[in-house]
Amino acid sequence: MNAVNRSIDTKTYQQRDAAHHLHPFTDYKALAREGTRVITRAEGCHIWDSEGNKILDGMAGLWCVNVGYGRRELADAAYKQLMELPFYNSFFKTTNAPAADLAAKLAEVTPAGLNHAFFANSGSEANDTIVRMVRHYWNLKGQPDRKTIISREYGYHGSTMASVSLCGMSAMHGQGDLPLPGFHHIDPPYQFRDGANMTPEEFGLAAARKLEAAIHHIGPDRVAAFIAEPIQGAGGVIIPPMSYFPEIQRICREYGILLIADEVICGFGRTGRWFGCDSFDIQPDLMPIAKGLSSGYQPISAVMVGERVATTFIEEGGEFYHGFTYSGHPVAAAVALENIAIIQREKLVERVAGDIGPYFAEKLRSLEDIPIVGEVRTMGLIGAVELVKDRKNRTFFERLGATGTICRDHCFANNLVMRAVRDTMVVSPPLIISHDEVDELVAKARAAITATARDVG
Ligand code: PLP
Repeated sequence: MNAVNRSIDTKTYQQRDAAHHLHPFTDYKALAREGTRVITRAEGCHIWDSEGNKILDGMAGLWCVNVGYGRRELADAAYKQLMELPFYNSFFKTTNAPAADLAAKLAEVTPAGLNHAFFANSGSEANDTIVRMVRHYWNLKGQPDRKTIISREYGYHGSTMASVSLCGMSAMHGQGDLPLPGFHHIDPPYQFRDGANMTPEEFGLAAARKLEAAIHHIGPDRVAAFIAEPIQGAGGVIIPPMSYFPEIQRICREYGILLIADEVICGFGRTGRWFGCDSFDIQPDLMPIAKGLSSGYQPISAVMVGERVATTFIEEGGEFYHGFTYSGHPVAAAVALENIAIIQREKLVERVAGDIGPYFAEKLRSLEDIPIVGEVRTMGLIGAVELVKDRKNRTFFERLGATGTICRDHCFANNLVMRAVRDTMVVSPPLIISHDEVDELVAKARAAITATARDVG
């Protein structure tokens, strides 16, 4: 199992890559200077590079490989479907069995009331689809002035023009004159930064009421929807207090605006329930899903659509002029179905809630004895270790992000993948991670954070 594919020469691939491959989210000069790690294979919770290093993947790829690497069942499902029907589209009143089965399965496992699936290929495409659905919905309802979609600072919803406009990442907006008109951002429920003097209950209500203030500022008749990740993942694993979403739900209902729960990271067991909506008691009108839907084995996403929007579209909408060549791709759908079957068969959601999640929480919290650790946050198998200059006063480092980068590099040098968001180290391992692997992850994180403290001290 440990064999390394020696036919891959690291230098050749680094040079080829630097010469021809424009990577996502990458500084190209730095890549050419420093080279990349060439990943050659993976098994369970580990990946291997072309130098033979075995690396613990604390990020499950990009928050997506929920069932772990090397699943023969998923390869078999893809092979079988490729031989039977490798492609056909789902435009113009055509379907295929895996797409229909997957839509039905998703209606069963997602929160009550979400009974229709619109398929796409990525989280970004799902959120772009949602922006079009929201506008189309309000036009059909005779309220075309309802255009503004409210989202949050540090929210991440994708990289296409509409989905990046939903994002609350200023660096992303700086490139490309974004956001587009019709997008408004409010503060996130980031208690470590903004709520030191409040109880979680008080802070959750105060943070939710920023939505109400924004609605009044924009004008209640001009607001179309509010979008939020149950836990803000790429923004630094910001976990809201339990009082936050019930108040958000109340506000959305009171002003009639659509509530969108972006489950691209939280879905499929990550939080210890099937969906983050189940963990926080959210009843969304629209719900994008991706990543854990196929555990990253195939590019597939979906928008789960609730009755309010679905009925309007079906009864009043006429043709919906939107879709992708690969919407409802039979191979991707077959793999997603088998992936969901694995999650159910192996009771992975129950495992996260009752066994490995609490163990992970306890172990990660043990890092709080390191002086630069300001706070450890976890829910299920998603976690954050926030690094600060002064824990007592919650003072961040001056050059926000520099310390996180140092720590991330220490992790990587020590064969652990952890990601840095500003100075917060985030972690989101496969749901099959063993107790020993959690110990390995936390021991390596401790070594990296301790080395970082020495570097910045
Ligand atoms: N929504 C959330 C919450 C995400 O975390 C991401 C990606 O990380 C996306 C949407 C975009 O998904 P994709 O990268 O598949 O376009």
